[in-house]
Amino acid sequence: MGLLKVGTPLHWDDMLEHCNYIRRHGVLQFLSIYRRMQHLENDPFFYGDELEYSLLKLNPNKTVQLSLRGPEVMDRLRGQEQESTGNGCAWHQEYGSWMLEGTPKLPYDGYAMSLVGVEQNMRLRRGRLLSALHADEVAPTLVAFPLMGVGPSFAATSTDSRSIAESSSVPDEVINPHPRFGTLTANIRQRRGSKVDIRMPLFQDLRTPEFESTEHPTIDMDCMAYGMGCCCLQVTFQASNMKESRYLYDQLAVLAPIMMAMTAATPVLKGRLAATDARWSVISQSVDDRTPAERGLEPGAPDPRMAGHGVRRQSKSRYDSISCYIHPSSQAYNDIPCEIDEEIRALLEDEGVDQALAQHIAHLFTRDPLVAFEGLIEADDEKSTDHFESVQSTNWQTVRWKPPPAKEGCAPHIGWRTEFRSMEIQLTDFENAAFTAFMVLIARAIVVFNLDFLTALSLVDANMARAHTEDAVRTQKFWFRKSVESEEDEVCEMSMDEIMNGNGAGFPGLIPLCYAYLKHIGCDESSFMRLDQYLKFIQRRASGELPTPATWMRSFIRSHPAYAFDSVVSEPIAHDLVKACSEIGLGQRPAVELLGDVQVEPITNGQYEIPLFAKKLSLTERKGLLEKLWP
Ligand code: ADP
Ligand code: MG
Ligand code: MG
Ligand code: MG
Ligand code: MG
Ligand code: MG
Repeated sequence: MGLLKVGTPLHWDDMLEHCNYIRRHGVLQFLSIYRRMQHLENDPFFYGDELEYSLLKLNPNKTVQLSLRGPEVMDRLRGQEQESTGNGCAWHQEYGSWMLEGTPKLPYDGYAMSLVGVEQNMRLRRGRLLSALHADEVAPTLVAFPLMGVGPSFAATSTDSRSIAESSSVPDEVINPHPRFGTLTANIRQRRGSKVDIRMPLFQDLRTPEFESTEHPTIDMDCMAYGMGCCCLQVTFQASNMKESRYLYDQLAVLAPIMMAMTAATPVLKGRLAATDARWSVISQSVDDRTPAERGLEPGAPDPRMAGHGVRRQSKSRYDSISCYIHPSSQAYNDIPCEIDEEIRALLEDEGVDQALAQHIAHLFTRDPLVAFEGLIEADDEKSTDHFESVQSTNWQTVRWKPPPAKEGCAPHIGWRTEFRSMEIQLTDFENAAFTAFMVLIARAIVVFNLDFLTALSLVDANMARAHTEDAVRTQKFWFRKSVESEEDEVCEMSMDEIMNGNGAGFPGLIPLCYAYLKHIGCDESSFMRLDQYLKFIQRRASGELPTPATWMRSFIRSHPAYAFDSVVSEPIAHDLVKACSEIGLGQRPAVELLGDVQVEPITNGQYEIPLFAKKLSLTERKGLLEKLWP
């Protein structure tokens, strides 16, 4: 996400007047980019990852809390990045005030060597983040805070406001104070007409009390922070041209459920063990702004100020898997409902946009904008992309197609990109780098070998449901093509082991395809040695030999001395889990069960280069300092 606009955001009642304008001009802004950029050719392959961190406070009395210093820590890190030289990191806001996102300062280039640099940069980020923490804070890469919404003091704050999310369990203080995030929260609730209503199945253990009286008890959550507070691993790829970015989008959409299952790391929600292992459905429900009529529950009164007048049936939340493939050759596989705005589709097609793309944009724009700022509604559609981005960036799907930003005459330009968004964040940079490298290699293999993974979207959605289930890697089968050749599109159900490692019956396996790609490019030996470790590790996780983080965490909890086999993750258990996860991430605690023979080198505090030129001191500062240096 780029720079966030600062200004006064509009409440939903005031937004409503502008929704149609913003949607229409968002599309005009897209058309302007499309006209100018559709012929970009031969852009270099670039890529970059995004990691999200949680700031947590470990207290001496064995409790753990959210530390709400995210914005403060971000400012400090940004300041330090400016003073440091070289290829550092960039720090971004996230939804929660306990969260922080880190990316490389610049995207990586397309040389095999850069893949080895990914882990180095991730380690640099973790080290630098460490330098900005208080002594009692940790910043593990955990998907969900295990005690979110539990008890009165799961967040370290002395105030308690409830007017934004109106949650019965979570104070608004956990929301990033930048006005965008609170407005997003309140406007989703108001558009929907009620608080969000998140339900995930509860895990049945030997003595889980709920199962005595209910058949399908759920973990119930009532605000956006439960979902948007989840941390993930995303990877963005630049394609050589628009067509390739669309091809990659479709192919990666098929891999989204597969890779979510492979990286599953979310077995605990709101202090309870869940019967699921992955976050996606929680987030999907946490930002579901559909009116009751759009959800198909009850007819509503049409409001012409809203997209689809607020009554068009919408089969999915705006945070969900994709509803249509976007490459022209993929259209036969679009077999699920994909609601579109007919007027917008007609406008796009009149302007020469092909059917497949017009459908995608007309689908995105069935959603209303959620945040706009006072005085920033009227826009020059040839120069600004704010309205396009406003709708685009609140369509949170498993893959995102990113057109070039509008900046004119800015060299080097940014090209057409595809973002892969389904993976769960891993505890260590070794794992995060391994999955990033894997995605880079498979994305390259798809393009260079012209592989075809497409199946009907209904099967991709079926895979998405299966990918949530407990230990899906070991217990589920997934729909996949029997062959990667375009002409043969028969599908079958395969185990994760077969999908990743091959089935010995014509399907080569995704990992062997990565190896074939490395061989094809003649990868240098030293890069290969590290990449080989990554691929072998993923192979072992796919075969079930090594557990997913979710399975590892579940077993950590179930073997904790304080666990009562009632699916409750109590304070001391959560404390020890967070501490263990933090230590594993920092290489301070071995994790043989999780990583096998891979050892994480310890990460040291504060890896900022020391700037040679310091700020000029005032006389008093100098006096104090010199006395300390030469007493
Ligand atoms: P968002 O939050 O909207 O996805 P971010 O800026 O946080 O966007 O992250 C996008 C990722 O894309 C980062 O890892 C960044 O390094 C990477 N990136 C930036 N420019 C390019 C590019 N031209 N091609 C590919 N990746 C890029
Ligand atoms: Mg980002
Ligand atoms: Mg983002
Ligand atoms: Mg993010
Ligand atoms: Mg992103
Ligand atoms: Mg959709």
